[in-house]
Amino acid sequence: MDYDVVVAGGSVAGLLCAREIAAQNHRVLVIEEDYEIGTPEHCGGLVSTSGMDELGIIPFRATLDNKIRSARVTAPSGKDFVLDARPQQVIVLDRREFDKQIAHQAKVNGAEIRVRTSLREITKDGVRTSDGEIKCRTIVDARGVSSLINKDRTGTLQSAQYEVYADWIDKERVEVYLDQEKYPGFFAWVIPTRHDEAKVGVAGKGINSAAVLEDFLKEKGRYSAVRKIFAPIWIKGPIKEFVTRNIVTVGDAAGQAKPTTAGGIYSSGLGGIFAGNAISKFLETGKEGTLQEYQKKWTDKFGKEFEQMLLARSLLERLDNKSINSLFESITPEVLNEISKEGSFDFHTMSVAKLLGVKGSVKAVQTILGNELRRLLG
Ligand SMILES: Cc1cc2nc3c(=O)[nH]c(=O)nc-3n(C[C@H](O)[C@H](O)[C@H](O)COP(=O)(O)OP(=O)(O)OC[C@H]3O[C@@H](n4cnc5c(N)ncnc54)[C@H](O)[C@@H]3O)c2cc1C
Repeated sequence: MDYDVVVAGGSVAGLLCAREIAAQNHRVLVIEEDYEIGTPEHCGGLVSTSGMDELGIIPFRATLDNKIRSARVTAPSGKDFVLDARPQQVIVLDRREFDKQIAHQAKVNGAEIRVRTSLREITKDGVRTSDGEIKCRTIVDARGVSSLINKDRTGTLQSAQYEVYADWIDKERVEVYLDQEKYPGFFAWVIPTRHDEAKVGVAGKGINSAAVLEDFLKEKGRYSAVRKIFAPIWIKGPIKEFVTRNIVTVGDAAGQAKPTTAGGIYSSGLGGIFAGNAISKFLETGKEGTLQEYQKKWTDKFGKEFEQMLLARSLLERLDNKSINSLFESITPEVLNEISKEGSFDFHTMSVAKLLGVKGSVKAVQTILGNELRRLLG
């Protein structure tokens, strides 16, 4: 055997998985098809500090771009509300630096990392890569959404995200724009990174994301786009089997990003950690059942919340612009206050349910959503 484990994909889930395996003195190799860890960055970088704590990472200075104080959500009519984000301690990471920080943690523990090396095929005793055959006992698929697209195209939306310089960016405020005609089933976002700098993106069902984003930016005002990135996002939730024989799927490749926002640094990252711990145990005991503990642990933590997110998504998808506009009219300062204080960035369906179920909220919304809304409200 060349290695105990080969991890395909050197991003947050794969690197955290390797970090845990190496910590138990097993031989682990991470192969990354791009020429640099962290590049090309295709992420907004929004994450909670409590999520980072659970991932075991204190961001370096270079890793931390910004701190968020509020979030403004705007309806198609232009009516908006603002949530105080301070209690939830949300930060913006520079993913290029963040991924390198985890790569460094993995390396310190003893993992090896090879960039510009791509997984081509899983063989009977290891993997075939662009760099030749490698023998190993266990394979980790951490190839992100690209791994899922090959299996199921129906769960992806195309996103576009530009890094822009503009003077209309509020450094401390994330912005979300809902509009079922422009961004069906998703939204447009502005994530500030520094003074006058932000990641601005859109995603939606069946849209030309680049054209829609450019229209959005034109409406916002003058800007310079210094980077453009297009990437699929997965909104269908976790796959059925995280483990098949000696192949362990982690992170976005296992559908571990939130179906509502596609955020996955935390939930995909923890997937990598849980998998790494289970693989280490398997290597020590030889009992295949220990690999399954990973799926159980992830599902115990996120299963219910992800089911609720899928339900929230299916409800929101059915609202047209008129219903969203009326909903915004009925949101009271008390509800916003409650969400700001008690809401959770990582487990946020309760906040969505509160917004959808506000007392006296439009009849149209209640009629459309009926029983399902009651299920979401518990
Ligand atoms: C536009 C956009 C904005 C987002 N914003 C946020 C956000 O604000 N907050 C948040 O929490 N999440 C966000 N996400 C989601 C977040 O980026 C992912 O959940 C997270 O990066 C998942 O990590 P991962 O390691 O599972 O997969 P990925 O980060 O997708 O990494 C997969 C890696 O595998 C490599 N790879 C692919 N194929 C092969 C192969 N054959 N061989 C070797 N390597 C391979 C890729 O090059 C890549 O490095 C966003 C996603 C997108 C697209």
